[in-house]
Amino acid sequence: MSKNFPSPLELIRRHNLNLKKSLGQNLLIDTNHLARIAAAAELTKEDTVLEIGPGLGALTHQLAERAGRVVAVELDQRLIPVLREQFANQPHVSFVHGDILELSPAALIQPQLPQETGAASDTTEYKVVANLPYYITSAVIRHILERADSRPTLAVLLVQREVAQRMVAQPGDMSLLAVSVQFYARPRALHTVPAGAFLPAPKVDSSVMRLDLHQQPAVPDVDPTQFFRIVRAGFGQRRKQLRNSLSAGLSCKKEDADLWLNAAGVEPSRRPQTLSISEWGELTRQVYGEK
Ligand code: SAM
Repeated sequence: MSKNFPSPLELIRRHNLNLKKSLGQNLLIDTNHLARIAAAAELTKEDTVLEIGPGLGALTHQLAERAGRVVAVELDQRLIPVLREQFANQPHVSFVHGDILELSPAALIQPQLPQETGAASDTTEYKVVANLPYYITSAVIRHILERADSRPTLAVLLVQREVAQRMVAQPGDMSLLAVSVQFYARPRALHTVPAGAFLPAPKVDSSVMRLDLHQQPAVPDVDPTQFFRIVRAGFGQRRKQLRNSLSAGLSCKKEDADLWLNAAGVEPSRRPQTLSISEWGELTRQVYGEK
């Protein structure tokens, strides 16, 4: 850890803290990896960053050095005073106590003048950088991507390697997570972070993922709510044929499901993991018509 920042271990001792497994508190303690994650977001002083789960602030320090403004949301109330004390002299960094899944990113990153510096622009553009708590990884990703009013321009996320593989999956291995991510963004796995770089070390390695958000969703002419209604129904019974999962998930007759699937050029006996994003799009058009 840089000589200017107290290490997480030092802070744990100083404040007599115990890390909570139930909150996914595996802290990244390797300075090189922390710096590489922040660098991957290509931050400038024009950028506003939303950090999810700052923990004891190790990644926050890296972000604060590069960005114009950092807003960090932490669920563990005990850590908030420890964080605020460390960043007391950095007015462009602020901490919010709360559950990211219950907060609107748009509301979080609104500048709150005059207390905060005017360094950030007054638009709602922002980037997300986070070492995500593993127990809500997929939910957080969908939370930040699926909100039409407040999508980031870029997200750099440290996730378990298996989750990273699921995000970049291709037809044959698709999941609800892969469709959600690829509908909104181009996901790339940048590098691996070994389990030993964390305190405590988790059982598996992690990957740094960069998601570059599309200007328009991958299938721009369908309504995203309708698109995901179909996708969720399809994945509702992953091992079943689409004719069965769609009729159960959409409460319709199997004959109707067959008609839509055939019209979309999708054999009704296929399983949901085999469909491409554009096939889900075509299926949405057959069920609901063009947007
Ligand atoms: N950023 C730190 C690092 O890189 O070392 C800590 C990352 S740790 C994997 C995840 C952090 O997310 C923990 O500090 C945990 O308390 C916090 N957290 C867990 N659930 C959360 C939630 N629903 N909303 C916001 N923060 C959460």
